[in-house]
Formats: sequence, structure tokens, C-alpha cells
Amino acid sequence: MQRINHFINGQPKAPESSAYFDSLDPATSRPHAHVPDGDERDVEAAVAAAERAFPSWSQTPAAERSRILLKIADLIDADLEPLARAESADAGKPLGLARSLDIPRAAANFRFFATAILHFASEAHATDDQAINYTLRDPRGVCGLIAPWNLPLYLLTWKIAPALACGNTAVAKPSELTPLTASMLGDIATRAGLPPGVLNIVHGLGHKVGAAIAAHPRVSTISFTGGTITGAKIAAAGAPLFKKVSLELGGKNPTIVFADADMAQAIPNTLRAAFANQGEICLCGSRIFVEKSAYPRFVEQFVAAAKALRIGDPLDPATDQGALISAQHREKVESYVELARKDGGKILTGGGRPTKVPERCRDGFFFEPTVITDLPSNCRVLREEIFGPVVTITPFADEAEAIALANSTDYGLAASLWTADLSRGHRLARRIHSGTIWVNCWMLRDLRVPFGGMKQSGVGREGGLEALRFFTEPKNVCVKY
Ligand code: NDP
Repeated sequence: MQRINHFINGQPKAPESSAYFDSLDPATSRPHAHVPDGDERDVEAAVAAAERAFPSWSQTPAAERSRILLKIADLIDADLEPLARAESADAGKPLGLARSLDIPRAAANFRFFATAILHFASEAHATDDQAINYTLRDPRGVCGLIAPWNLPLYLLTWKIAPALACGNTAVAKPSELTPLTASMLGDIATRAGLPPGVLNIVHGLGHKVGAAIAAHPRVSTISFTGGTITGAKIAAAGAPLFKKVSLELGGKNPTIVFADADMAQAIPNTLRAAFANQGEICLCGSRIFVEKSAYPRFVEQFVAAAKALRIGDPLDPATDQGALISAQHREKVESYVELARKDGGKILTGGGRPTKVPERCRDGFFFEPTVITDLPSNCRVLREEIFGPVVTITPFADEAEAIALANSTDYGLAASLWTADLSRGHRLARRIHSGTIWVNCWMLRDLRVPFGGMKQSGVGREGGLEALRFFTEPKNVCVKY
């Protein structure tokens, strides 16, 4: 079994505690790696290394920073297979998904921000006929970057790439549940020629390592993706220190299907939105609303498609659904299905652990794709994030009701609408409270667009210029002439 270490000042480093814990493969429930049980002493060492590296890295020409980040992207591409295997083993996700989505997107993140920084222009404002103002955008210093387990390398690099491109240095923390690809990234960064201390990776538990990063007085900037409750703790830790904080949090995303939608597109894409990565994507459409006249036909076809999804060994190319991240997470998902039963919901398919999985995966944390209807409005299953392969389907009468249902949670991350009437698509897009609205598509990503949530789905936006602005400090210079 492999042992990984922190990556501090360009070197693998054992934890100060000398303690390691086991990381489990969710598909087998067997330990497959020893992970450092980091604490605030390791965070302190990482922050010190990042501080030492900052003056030189922040003054390195953008073209040189870009060259190194492009090299990292190339090395991620070259290591696609081992990275995808590590991601699949750590997260329980189908290997095919890690190969086609997670790892290519990590490379794309580096490539995107390596080139974006070359085109990042600052503003100038002419004040009547007497002065010119121009804005400098300086890097902010040491950034704390904290990511969840569902898209481990994809989401961690979505923060690392813009932070470093802007000339900051970083202390990054992957989820304790999925540390492998982050530890491989440290080696890739070294091979790409990234100077020691520019990127530091500290492993360990969220309440120790994550909390120490969030509260560290010399970490000026925190970019966090994870659950809403953790986000509130990070906001509270940062507020008295006046940190700049970006929070990408949970979602309970609506998918709205009108009767005029092209069902040949709407059904497979709604299914993908519901169950991709076992429903463990913050953007998953877990609340499906269907116009009444199309409801019986939609439910019948959707349920048939959900039943046809193959649950199995993530290493099997035929597998659509891998394992959930942990035994505790599966229990949480099960508790919501139980709640739905108590509330009178009808489980049309799924609702339990699969009985037939390959021998290797006998003890894995699998759960069936589950479709629930007939729930009372405003019940917890319709309002709270489950973050698993569980969707509800609810009929609606008209546009007004669809909008009211879509907006009836405390979240506001993403929504998708399916209709042949594009005027209606634009109309609803204005009225739904979400950071992203997809019309006749789902998870079609352009890395230039602002990405993030409103209400309890977060504060701030990532992506494109938003990320470059977040990771820089604007300073106005006013010159009178
Ligand atoms: P958590 O909030 O539990 O954890 C996220 C990260 O924060 C992990 O690295 C975790 O470490 C760390 N952490 C935990 N406690 C603290 C703390 N007190 N201080 C600082 N860091 C801490 O989320 P999950 O990992 O369970 O991820 C699932 C959640 O992420 C879902 O709610 C999902 O919707 C959301 N998410 C949001 C996205 C978005 O873009 N809006 C995208 C993807 C997911 P450790 O795991 O080691 O405990």
C-alpha cells in the first residue's frame, strides 16, 4: 500500500505528528493509501514556504509563469492514465469518467489560466480633462485553496491554476478522502520546473488542516469549494481577519422540462444531470419538474432509462455508476430515502443497495439510482442537498408554478430548462435564482464564464476574468496632468 506525504517547499514531507491514516477505496472499502494526518504545524511550514517563494514568483514575468503552467498541463495529459486510475480508486467513480472528465479538465484548467494571464488587461479611467487613473492588479500573497472529494483534481486545479497564474503562492488542501491525485500533482509541478514553495499541498482532516489554513493570519485569501455548513465556518474564521473569501457551496438544482421539449434530448441529458458521478456533482439536477401534460410519459421513460444504468466495478468500462464516497455518505443518502418513504413518496426505482455487484466490490459503498415521486411540497427531501443518486420528479401546471418550485430552496447554484420555445427559455432564465442557467443542455462548460452560486450556494464567482480579479488586489493610481 502506498504512503503519500505533504508537498512543502518543493519536497515530499512527513507530517509533524508522524501519524498517518488509511484512505479507503470506496468500491471495495479496503485501505489503499496511507495519508498524512496533518495539523497546524504542517500548515505553518507550508505557509512559511509559500511566503518565502512569493517575492520571486510574484515578480516572475507572466510569460514565464505561463510557460511553467502550460508544462504542468502537458504533464497531466502525459500522466492521464495513472492520474485517472488514482482518482477512480480514491473517489469510487467510473474510470472512464475520470479519464474523460476529471483529468482532462485539470489539464484544461492550467492551460486556460496559463494563457488567460497573458491577455489580462487592467482598466484606465480618464477623469474629465485633468487626470488619468489606471488600475494595477497585484497578486495578493499566500492563498489557501480548499477542495472537496467529488471532483478532486478538477476542483483543486480550478483554484491552483488562477492563483499561481496571477503570481500568488498557495497552500492547497484536498479532501482527506481523495488525496492521491493532489499528491501526484506535487511531483508534476516539480518536473514542470515550478519553483519550490510556490505550490504547497497539506493533507489531513478538514477540522485540523482546513481550519488551520482558514484561520491562518498570513493567508490573505481563501478559495473554498465544499458544503454550505463548512463554508459558514470558513467565512466566520476569515471575517475578523478581513480575508478575501470565495465560497462555492452546495446546490439543490432544478431541472425544468416543458411538454414541448425535444424528449430525445431532454431524457438522456436529464438522466445524466441526475446521476453523473453517482449524483455527487454540485451541479447535478436532483429536483426534476415536468409540465403536467408530459409528466406520465416523461416519468415512464426516465425510470426505464434509470433502471438501465449499470452499477458496478468502476474499473469496468461498461459501468455507469460507481460507488459513493464513503459508508457515512451512503448512510446519509439512505436516511433521505427513508425520509421520503415516511413522507409518502413513491420510490419508482432504486431505493437501496444493489444486490448484484462483482465479487471485488462486494463491500463497496454502492447505492442504486433512485427516482422518487409524489412527495409533499416543501418536505426536506425536496429542499435539502442529498448529493447522491437520488432524484425527485414533480409535475407543474404552468411557467409561474415552475419558477416558484425552482426557487423554493435556500440554494441557488444551477438550473437547467428544456423547451422548444427559446423566448420562454430567456424569460425563465431571468427569473430563476441561480448562478448558472442551462437552456436545452446541462454542464456545458466554457471556462470564461462566471461560475458560482447565490443564496446558500456561495459567495463570489470563479472562472475567467472573475478568477483573475479574485486572485489580484486592484490598486488605483491617479495622475493629474
Ligand atoms: P466539505 O465541506 O465537508 O469539505 C470540503 C473541504 O473542506 C474538504 O477538503 C474538507 O476536508 C474541508 N473542511 C472540512 N471541514 C473544514 C473546516 N472546519 N475548515 C476548513 N476546511 C474544512 O464538503 P465535501 O467534501 O463533503 O463536498 C461536498 C460538498 O461540496 C457538497 O455540498 C457539494 O455541493 C459541494 N460542492 C460545491 C461545488 C460548487 O462549485 N459550488 C462543487 C463541488 C462540490 P476533509 O474532507 O478532509 O474533511
